[in-house]
Amino acid sequence: MRKLFAFALIASLSVLFFSCKKNNIEDNGVPEITGTITGKVVSPNNRTPIRYALVFISTAKKLYSTHTDINGNFSLTAAVGTGQELHVQTGNGDKFRSIIQVDVIANQTTPLSDMIRLNQVGNFAYLAGSFDKIENILIDSLGYNAQSINSTNIQNIAGISNFDVLFINCGAYNTYENSNIDSAFSNFVSGGGSLYLSDYSMDFLTGQNALTACQVPRYYGFIADSTVCSRRTGAVSVVPNAQVISPELQYYLGKDSMSISYNLGSWERIQSIDNNFWQTMVTDPTDNSPLLIRTNQYNNGNNNAPLVGSRDTSHVTICHQLGNGTSITITVNANAVADHLAHGDSIGACNNPYQSGWIYFTTFHNEHNGQISEDVKHILEFMILNL
Ligand SMILES: [Zn+2]
Repeated sequence: MRKLFAFALIASLSVLFFSCKKNNIEDNGVPEITGTITGKVVSPNNRTPIRYALVFISTAKKLYSTHTDINGNFSLTAAVGTGQELHVQTGNGDKFRSIIQVDVIANQTTPLSDMIRLNQVGNFAYLAGSFDKIENILIDSLGYNAQSINSTNIQNIAGISNFDVLFINCGAYNTYENSNIDSAFSNFVSGGGSLYLSDYSMDFLTGQNALTACQVPRYYGFIADSTVCSRRTGAVSVVPNAQVISPELQYYLGKDSMSISYNLGSWERIQSIDNNFWQTMVTDPTDNSPLLIRTNQYNNGNNNAPLVGSRDTSHVTICHQLGNGTSITITVNANAVADHLAHGDSIGACNNPYQSGWIYFTTFHNEHNGQISEDVKHILEFMILNL
């Protein structure tokens, strides 16, 4: 799986920096005639530029793609044609995407007259916490929506299966952890649902007992204890030089280090981690301990679990082959799938062997008495947009 991740990294990097610069000659040797579209992508409330969004036009022959920059701006060069569908997506395109019609005019740059608002197409829910409010960023800052659910809803997969994403704030863990919740979450992630958890919510992943040594088993939790162990040993502190090691996150932030404030003590410090299962995105340079991790490698093998999420059949997520062994996950209209399969694509996201959801875990809070740093806010935006 490590090789897969390395592959994914190279693939995503090559998409970032070399997309659609491959050639300007079509298969038949005739020079390709292209034009350029420029524009800006923002959140629905117009307040937040959407960074690192994938912008593409897909023809039967070729995918023309680029990413938005740190200000949400893009410049996409594609084959000429009127009424073409210009797609904008983040993540796999199954939770956030917009499609507009554009005319690509030969040898001309056409600026879009309106900003593109990135639409939410997945169903989100959150579990309120004591110290955290991820919903502040999701709803207030970005302008998306999520339903508040409670401990009763998570006792059974039926209570959460309509959602594509669950946000679990720190402090939501307290009294109600049990094997029913473990089973619900296990089926949720295996069925393609994504989870975000912060700090003490680690209990939902590997279970309780976070004050004891890592050799002591954790109670409950649906992820094997061997994949990650944290202890509540974090001190009130600032990590001034946290290392951003994920290339995607570096692109999103526009830098590779940042300051993270831990305003409350006894946070979940990660002691050990299985790097084949988890991808570490941010570390503390003093001991290299992970501060932000994610995985899409979880699956419980239960083929009888119900389908999860909004289950929109009008669009299909596929792994599109870019050539040279690289690939990219896009979500396209259902009626475009046949063309993609014909040039060697496959159904489902790339580099996701079980088509499971993501699990993101942050050791740091998402609400610092209502005030988090801009950098932390941007990290949480990235996480939300790429679940
Ligand atoms: Zn394709």
